[in-house]
Amino acid sequence: MIEIHSHILPDLDDGASDLDQAVHMAREAVEQGIHTVIATPHHENGRFTNDASSVELQVKAFQEELNRRNIPLHIHAGQEIRVYRDLIEDLEAQRSTTLGGSRYILLEFPSDQISKGMNEIVYELQLMKLVPIIAHPERNREIVDNPTKLLELVQLGALTQVTAHSLLGHFGKSIQSFTLDLCRSNLAHFVSSDAHNTTNRGFALSEAYDALRNELGDPYVSTFQNNANRVIHNLSIETQSPVWMKPKWFQFWKS
Ligand code: FE
Repeated sequence: MIEIHSHILPDLDDGASDLDQAVHMAREAVEQGIHTVIATPHHENGRFTNDASSVELQVKAFQEELNRRNIPLHIHAGQEIRVYRDLIEDLEAQRSTTLGGSRYILLEFPSDQISKGMNEIVYELQLMKLVPIIAHPERNREIVDNPTKLLELVQLGALTQVTAHSLLGHFGKSIQSFTLDLCRSNLAHFVSSDAHNTTNRGFALSEAYDALRNELGDPYVSTFQNNANRVIHNLSIETQSPVWMKPKWFQFWKS
């Protein structure tokens, strides 16, 4: 399995606190059947700044450490980038970067809203031949309140990544149901652990795929796994037309 979003690099953000924990996370990933991880430290989120060049260096050092310890895990460099004012300029200047050098870029919003001007940003990224992947939309207040705003972004060409722990119910029942609704509505394209540690936010990819298989069936699992593979190989991703299907609980809750 391939993991496209993780905070495995030591001491860069609120993920692995030191090398020991990062190695421990790597061992857990391998035990679950993960062979490739994109390291995506937070960038420009108001607390952490991790320029592309420093992430590259850290990935190289960490990969050497894993090789030395015979841990069979490939690490690629990426960032989880908070949408910020200079995003486009910084991408051009290569201070911000994509997932593993591909056309795909992992973006996050503040937890309570969609970043301002996001429709234009999706358009500008496309002019640069880049494809945004919106991280954990199921945990964004504005999207939960108004999923058609996410639908608009996906119709414009954005992809989205839901979190393994959301599918597993670790953030509560309503986020779990909403996550499944996003999948059913073709508004999710990847599942990722967004692993931060080995305690409360570890790698949970195989469990999450099992949950997805049980709830929605095999085709969802193979599509999501195939999409992650296509990111690593920088191949284009075909998507199904998104249609927001209002579930009964949502209609009731909004009325
Ligand atoms: Fe993250």
